[in-house]
Amino acid sequence: MAMMDLQERNERLFYKLLIDNVEELLPVVYTPTVGEACQKYGSIFRRPQGLYISLKEKGKVLEVLKNWPEKSVQVIVVTDGERILGLGDLGSQGMGIPVGKLSLYTALGGVRPSACLPITIDVGTNNEQLLKDEFYTGLRHKRATGQEYTELLDEFMCAVKQNYGEKILVQFEDFANHNAFELLSRYRSTHLVFNDDIQGTASVVLAGIIAALKLVGGTLADHTFLFLGAGEAGTGIAELVALEVSKQTKAPLEHTRKKIWLVDSKGLIVSSRRESLQHFKKPWAHDHEPVKGLLDAVKAIKPTVLIGSSGVGKTFTKEVLEAMASFNEKPLILALSNPTSQSECTAEEAYKWSKGRAIFASGSPFDTVEYDGRVFVPGQANNAYIFPGFGLGLIISGAIRVHDDMLLAASEALAAQVTQENFDKGLIYPPFSNIRKISAHIAADVAAKAYQLGLGSRLPQPKDLFKYAESCMYTPIYRSYL
Ligand code: NAP
Ligand code: MN
Repeated sequence: MAMMDLQERNERLFYKLLIDNVEELLPVVYTPTVGEACQKYGSIFRRPQGLYISLKEKGKVLEVLKNWPEKSVQVIVVTDGERILGLGDLGSQGMGIPVGKLSLYTALGGVRPSACLPITIDVGTNNEQLLKDEFYTGLRHKRATGQEYTELLDEFMCAVKQNYGEKILVQFEDFANHNAFELLSRYRSTHLVFNDDIQGTASVVLAGIIAALKLVGGTLADHTFLFLGAGEAGTGIAELVALEVSKQTKAPLEHTRKKIWLVDSKGLIVSSRRESLQHFKKPWAHDHEPVKGLLDAVKAIKPTVLIGSSGVGKTFTKEVLEAMASFNEKPLILALSNPTSQSECTAEEAYKWSKGRAIFASGSPFDTVEYDGRVFVPGQANNAYIFPGFGLGLIISGAIRVHDDMLLAASEALAAQVTQENFDKGLIYPPFSNIRKISAHIAADVAAKAYQLGLGSRLPQPKDLFKYAESCMYTPIYRSYL
């Protein structure tokens, strides 16, 4: 609440404070505190921080957009509030997420505050508690679905392009997975769209895996991957890993997908289940006999990399991690589920149960661990490493579409920022204190890729893209009047 007040009262000071204390304040404007703010949004609400578009405005969405006072918007983060972090359906109170994410676009990626527009699309909520809450800020009915929903989103996407042009970046955030995959595939060929839960996660995790190769050895193609959880995060990461291997080895995607296995709530995804699988899981249905639990899947597949993306905590048990350590010299363990209570295992458990051999990173932050006289620093696979720099790269190149190769470029740029000193501590991500430099490197490489693909419209292409990226970044300095 104090930060929200400061942002309202003195925007420049808000960003100065955030940038100078990024490690301390990131968990406030972003997960986990922003989650609590969303849950209580109705009762702490003072002034709207973003634009609400509700079902009642159907047919008038363009007019509503025109009400926003800033005219030269470059990035929109939009949610419908159906899957806010790991907290579920928070309806229109999900607004805290677009607001928080855009604060990071400015603080970490240097996009001007006035160029950022947070939007919440209100189609109702299925959260009974909120529907009964007298302070609830949104429409008091169940979520609209089907045609009504699709038409409103379509009107919104058209209006956005009509109002801001081809180069407006629309980041989808915290949509439930049945809508998230659908919206991304519908608009990726007509708009500049990016889904952070699918693509941003994929890029940040791939970066960690690429960096980890320095510690575990081998090339990406040498590794076998097993995921617990086959939703937005799991299948998004799996697809990007397969794509990177395919680029490196020139092998077709159908082939490189074969070393990647996923487990969902019904067990290992195998070909005999294909008919009943949601479409985004079908590419992962390989030939294998059915396997029920994670432990049996680990024993059957013998993965070198184990990734948790199910949202269910305490699933990397002692038996699972001991099995991983029994056939891997250095098992790579990524426990991505958030918040901390949902983590597949703690950092301490990962080091203890692998006898200090695991390379570990997680979705939620963990403290340094001392084990067997050694100090281990667990890394955090935080999406905030990628999306601000990625967005900046799109903006400075005037990109008109997002291409998967840009996500790969972002992953490689981030992995290249991990120093020997970081590796020596077991880290596979660089420290956040350097994040603006890191964002500028990511932006430069994403922009370079955009130009290479013929998708960059800002011409001529600047010679030194890194310097150019840095020079474009908003910095909250006070002018000297001396
Ligand atoms: P999602 O789309 O809802 O997917 C969840 C997946 O987990 C589904 O495939 C589901 O299976 C599976 N699952 C649920 N319970 C399970 C169980 N008991 N055993 C096995 N599988 C189970 O969610 P998401 O967006 O991918 O997010 C998943 C988690 O990843 C969340 O905790 C989120 O916070 C975290 N995450 C972390 C990062 C990061 O670290 N940077 C980024 C994004 C997300 P069915 O398909 O069978 O229902
Ligand atoms: Mn999200």
